[in-house]
Amino acid sequence: MPKGTFGLLIRWSSVQIAHAPPYTIRVSKKGSPFLCKGEDKNDSKKDKVVEMHYTLKNDVGDVLDSSKGQAPMPFLQGHGNIIPGLEKAVEGMKAGESCDVSVEPAEAYGDLHSEAIQEIPKEALQGIDNLVVGMELQSQDEQGNSLIVRVTAINKDSVTIDANHPLAGQTLSFSVSIESVRDATKEELEHGHIHAHGGSCSH
Ligand SMILES: [Zn+2]
Repeated sequence: MPKGTFGLLIRWSSVQIAHAPPYTIRVSKKGSPFLCKGEDKNDSKKDKVVEMHYTLKNDVGDVLDSSKGQAPMPFLQGHGNIIPGLEKAVEGMKAGESCDVSVEPAEAYGDLHSEAIQEIPKEALQGIDNLVVGMELQSQDEQGNSLIVRVTAINKDSVTIDANHPLAGQTLSFSVSIESVRDATKEELEHGHIHAHGGSCSH
């Protein structure tokens, strides 16, 4: 999400309902620390495809997301597919290894920007019937970038919305285990992301 002011840049005419909570927060983009870096040996190096199980907790220990009960999350190491803090932590880890790592906001989803929280007139959201706190809405900035905002309060004549990432400003604790590591295909490297089963994709 771009830094800076979101406020007046949001075109509310393009608002649509995205989806309601509870959110599923998959680890994505951005994020450093790194207690558990293996010793610079092999495996989870740049350009490798890694499959990882993870559990994400906030700083008071609530579980925010986990891959438990699902397939491990695959990603292309070294290409910004996951937050920077986690990418640094797993660099050098081998299949079968696990670690716990704490990631500061700067290496995760960034700081909380107060200017990204704002009140908009209720009539700007006409057409959305079941407006509830926690709902996510999709909007666009003037450059056409889509932006997810959350409804954080419904007031008499206005609605408070927050364009910060739900995990912005939070120190995140990850427990991760590396399930597998393989070489990336040429196409995966060109695209900068993984393709399921090493196949091709439509872009
Ligand atoms: Zn692709």
